[in-house]
Amino acid sequence: MTQPDQITQCHLCNYHGEMDELDVSAMFKFRFVTNQKWKVCRSCDLVFRDEMLPEEVNEEYYEYQYREDLRPDGFPEANDIRIAYVRAQPQLAFLSNLQDKDKITVESMIDVGAGLGATLHYAKSRYFEGINRVLAVEKSQQSWPFLDFIGIPYVSDISEAEGQWDVMIASHVVEHFRNPLDYVRDKMVPLIRPNGLLLVEVPNHTSTSAFSAAHLYAFKQETIGQLLTMAGLHVLMNTLVNNNKSILIAGRKGK
Ligand SMILES: [Zn+2]
Repeated sequence: MTQPDQITQCHLCNYHGEMDELDVSAMFKFRFVTNQKWKVCRSCDLVFRDEMLPEEVNEEYYEYQYREDLRPDGFPEANDIRIAYVRAQPQLAFLSNLQDKDKITVESMIDVGAGLGATLHYAKSRYFEGINRVLAVEKSQQSWPFLDFIGIPYVSDISEAEGQWDVMIASHVVEHFRNPLDYVRDKMVPLIRPNGLLLVEVPNHTSTSAFSAAHLYAFKQETIGQLLTMAGLHVLMNTLVNNNKSILIAGRKGK
């Protein structure tokens, strides 16, 4: 079995030196128990797991095992579906405002880590009449029957996605990547058309869910903002949602 390796260099600012340890159990006493070690970059304040699996192994995990670890039979339950639709609403409401205010075009939308497809489903059916093209990027095989059921086309890996898109959504996925900056800058941003938008939601570092098992990073508004900027995007909005448990951030790709 592949063993995780210890992270000695910050994946955001490349700082290489002493890191501070974060005592997660003390932060959430009586509510949360973890034996995972977390660290904080002394240079940019990025909060990250002390040990991570190699990139390919980490990605393979999402093809099947991730859902197995979440639920006994691996298939989403009613509450997972409810949460997916609840999360989608503030994201789409924000995009809708931006469409009115800044006259952005929302005719095509790609969702990376689309899960059950709730965001694309709502986007098409409730928010944006002009949408004529959607695509879900979703590794978990257990999600595919749900995407089929609501008629959302999908690919299993982002390398299979083609064309350029007005809006890219990445909801609660960036914190799962071993190298989130590389992934966003090199794999996600090239699929966004000039002037198009990337909308990212991640758990906020003050929430227990930020430190759940598959998460490799616990972002603050500053560190996720820095990540989008370093990926070449102009940050339009960076705000807390869901009772401050999540960060919603949008970046625009320059021409
Ligand atoms: Zn750093």
